[in-house]
Amino acid sequence: MSAPQPRPEVFSVASYVGGESVLPGFEKPIKLSSNEGAFGPPPSALAALAATGKKLHRYPDGSSARLRAAIGEKFGLDPAKIVCGNGSDELLTLLIQAYGGPGTELIMSVHGFSIYEIAGKLAGCTILKAAERNLTTDVDAMLALVTPQTKMLFLANPNNPTGTLLPQSEMLRLRAGLREDILLVIDAAYSEYVDREDYDPGTALVDAGENTVMTRTFSKIFGLGGARLGWAYAPAPIVDVLNRMRAPFNVSVTAAAAGIAALGEPGWLEAGREHNTRARTRLEARLAQVGLKTHPSEANFILVDFGSPERAAAADMFLRSRGLIVRNVKSYGLPSCLRVTIGTDDECNLAAEALNAFVHG
Ligand code: PMP
Repeated sequence: MSAPQPRPEVFSVASYVGGESVLPGFEKPIKLSSNEGAFGPPPSALAALAATGKKLHRYPDGSSARLRAAIGEKFGLDPAKIVCGNGSDELLTLLIQAYGGPGTELIMSVHGFSIYEIAGKLAGCTILKAAERNLTTDVDAMLALVTPQTKMLFLANPNNPTGTLLPQSEMLRLRAGLREDILLVIDAAYSEYVDREDYDPGTALVDAGENTVMTRTFSKIFGLGGARLGWAYAPAPIVDVLNRMRAPFNVSVTAAAAGIAALGEPGWLEAGREHNTRARTRLEARLAQVGLKTHPSEANFILVDFGSPERAAAADMFLRSRGLIVRNVKSYGLPSCLRVTIGTDDECNLAAEALNAFVHG
């Protein structure tokens, strides 16, 4: 008798490898590899998390009602249109399991976020990748890929790992160019960092119809990547689908408490965004002085282009030798680049100094 075998799709993907946090020889490496918020969580979130200890024998509220109310209040959204998840990865995956599947096509950008492809392949979808223009999503290239089998289109705005942003006029053109039965998923994981008046993270498109979902996360500006907490804002029928599909208690007591407190911390979001814009602009300027090319970013990271895969690999090794971990983006098809997260001012200074030493010796 042969051993049990999983569905063949399982072997179509490799195990996910995230940004590392361990660097042999360094007790406290500087981790600029996972786009985590520069300041971690607000102290009030840590206090709220600690206070949950006395409730840990109880299951969480399966509907995340208090958390959804807090999100709704913070962002001016109807809590009934919100579903919370174990990171936004969970919600993205559930959407694909619900609306994708064998015989369906999923469209993404060639340097779009990796989870769409991984979850899509696991669900048996065919993945179609649209070419980009200057590392930015090209709406026409995406629309040209649509066939009768297309069921979903995923777009991170800003995108990871490129950091680029599609203007609202292009988002509207994209939605208008898609059939109504195609689900548009706007992944707004980095939305809180965007410093532009005309930016909408996706709420307007969700409210405009029944075929758009926006996903968000607490892993970035709220500094709660380790808690695993994300949310989706969606029309009622999609909320219903996600609620049927998610695990009964997918958000832990600790994650919900930390999230509610983080949302309530006055000025946290604004201070994080203000720091990010300033530190990112400064790091970009310093890297330009060093002679390194960066791509314009609206997120909390910068894609640095070293011109060749060999030079990018050498820079990666050099940074590691100085205790700095950044993200190698080979698996995204960008072998000549490294992605550097915007950390604290001290961390950004160390990254700039190390890259200067790499280039000028
Ligand atoms: N979308 C994008 C574009 C991301 O970069 C990330 C995190 N790397 C996620 C979603 C997943 O975030 P979460 O921690 O909420 O699962």
